[in-house]
Amino acid sequence: SASIRGLHKSYGPVEVLKGIDLEVAAGEVVCLIGPSGSGKSTLLRCVNLLESPQRGTIEVAGHEVTDPEADLDLARRSVGMVFQQFNLFPHLTVLENCNVAQRKVLKRSRAEASETSRRNLELVGLADKTDRYPDQLSGGQQQRVAIARALSMDPQLMLFDEPTSALDPETVGDVLAVMRSLAERGMTMLVVTHEMAFARDVADRVAFMDGGVVVEEGPAAEVIGAPQQERTQRFLSRVL
Ligand code: ATP
Ligand code: MG
Repeated sequence: SASIRGLHKSYGPVEVLKGIDLEVAAGEVVCLIGPSGSGKSTLLRCVNLLESPQRGTIEVAGHEVTDPEADLDLARRSVGMVFQQFNLFPHLTVLENCNVAQRKVLKRSRAEASETSRRNLELVGLADKTDRYPDQLSGGQQQRVAIARALSMDPQLMLFDEPTSALDPETVGDVLAVMRSLAERGMTMLVVTHEMAFARDVADRVAFMDGGVVVEEGPAAEVIGAPQQERTQRFLSRVL
């Protein structure tokens, strides 16, 4: 689970997050939608401790990661993140890419890391690609490796920031299908996406952000199908 309360983030004089409250219950999928510049990525980066907020608290799986006393390594480990850019190591095989952080951060043996990686590569449909290098894979396959790599750290929460935006259209579906199967397996997920059909069909709840605040949130069918706020209606009329 994740619990974000009163989150404020500024860059210099510019306030980008203006008091965000958002809950993601264990096993829940929450999709975050909203226009460019509304603060979606900044919010994910705060949850992942890539940015430190000026005010507010973030709890992941019951631990307050924004507590100055918190074990940051432990906190970072509990959150998996998948970006638009997959950031795989080009000189490492698919299996090695999945093993690196398990070995370095979790101190797993090679055998143990490989077993976990293979299990997750199977889950994303790439069991037969373990010995390939990233440039021998399509963008969608590379993104699925990135998902398997994140899963191999046994995260409590998975963050996705527009995971399909950089992909060729024909590979988008495979990545969304993997995300859908993760959701069905009960993974807790916070997903920034422009894929409104995915948000409508897979998310338990949708939050619409604009100008650094959550303007509207609720069940996916309601926020996407019958938004109450004028700003949400305007955004959806442009993207649907
Ligand atoms: P997009 O849909 O385009 O990805 P977003 O909702 O993810 O947009 P953010 O990337 O969170 O938006 O950016 C929110 C605002 O914060 C923008 O105005 C952006 O210019 C600003 N911003 C983000 N990162 C920084 C930074 N490191 N320094 C200064 N300003 C930043
Ligand atoms: Mg963004």
